[in-house]
Amino acid sequence: NDILVQVDHLKKYFPVKGVKGPGVQAVEDVSLFIKRGETLGLVGESGCGKTTLGRTILQLHAPTSGKIVYDGKPIFEGKDPWQREAGGQMVRVKVPRPKAVDMLPYRRKMQIIFQDPSASLDPRMTVGEIIGEALDIHKLCPNKKDRTDRIKELLSMVGLNTEHANRYPHEFSGGQQQRVGIARALAVRPEFIVCDEPISALDVSIQSQVVNMLEDMQQELGLTYLFIAHDLSVVRHISNRIGVMYLGSLVELAESYELNKNPIHPYTKTLLSAVPVPDPEVSRSRQRIVLEGDIPSPMNPPTGCRFHTRCPYATDKCKEAAPEFKEHAPGHWAACHLLG
Ligand code: SF4
Repeated sequence: NDILVQVDHLKKYFPVKGVKGPGVQAVEDVSLFIKRGETLGLVGESGCGKTTLGRTILQLHAPTSGKIVYDGKPIFEGKDPWQREAGGQMVRVKVPRPKAVDMLPYRRKMQIIFQDPSASLDPRMTVGEIIGEALDIHKLCPNKKDRTDRIKELLSMVGLNTEHANRYPHEFSGGQQQRVGIARALAVRPEFIVCDEPISALDVSIQSQVVNMLEDMQQELGLTYLFIAHDLSVVRHISNRIGVMYLGSLVELAESYELNKNPIHPYTKTLLSAVPVPDPEVSRSRQRIVLEGDIPSPMNPPTGCRFHTRCPYATDKCKEAAPEFKEHAPGHWAACHLLG
């Protein structure tokens, strides 16, 4: 099976206390797949739902509805409890409870590297204890010597001194802390890693070191990545394919080269117009597009196409009906009425 992760019509809503309706509609009807051994980049403005999508795939957030399949096995399947009435109002309907799946074996196969290493590492634990804890949860090294050797092996894999196992996170630089976060994720020998903006909290000078290390690890260990970033210029180097999100929806997805050369969704064109291009032919044909207005609230997203309040091409149809996410050329998917 070529596909490691498959997501169908996934939604994640966060209820808000005292507010009627579905609350924050953070992920809206997202479908995608991730091939074994590839890097799927995910980009979009902050607050567009890309981190929530990554965490919902790992079920660190309970999905609201849709389907998640890992290595051919469904790990979540649930019907949508929210329906839109004729007047546009969202109403809750009774649906069967999703079947519970024991996630522990999948927790080992699916890991996450967090954005801010200083916040994601427990300051009271030494680096050795942090990595060892991951080994203990999954009972991977019951023998004390094996455990110590494995911790040293992981530290050297991420380019850290093995003598540093007894030090605390605050004794390391930001880049070194992120290496510890990567060692912790690798400790359980995962197959799939959600890299949640792993370099955006780091100094520019060390960002490329961490990206290169993640690429080397992928080659060496056959890892599959979902690489989340708000910066297109980062993901286009590391990703085989790139998905673009806007206000909870996936609006376009294509091979990295194809998406950069031939974006077809109006929002992707806007994002790309802001990124400097080294290819003079592409840069000549690309005008800077500036969007009017702010990104709407995911508590009360626009009806129809969620981008219609800012899209220069919006028509009445865009306000009424959400465009289907369709394949317009082999491997090139987008959701826009203009594309037919
Ligand atoms: Fe713009 Fe309409 Fe396409 Fe949405 S569906 S991106 S509003 S043209």
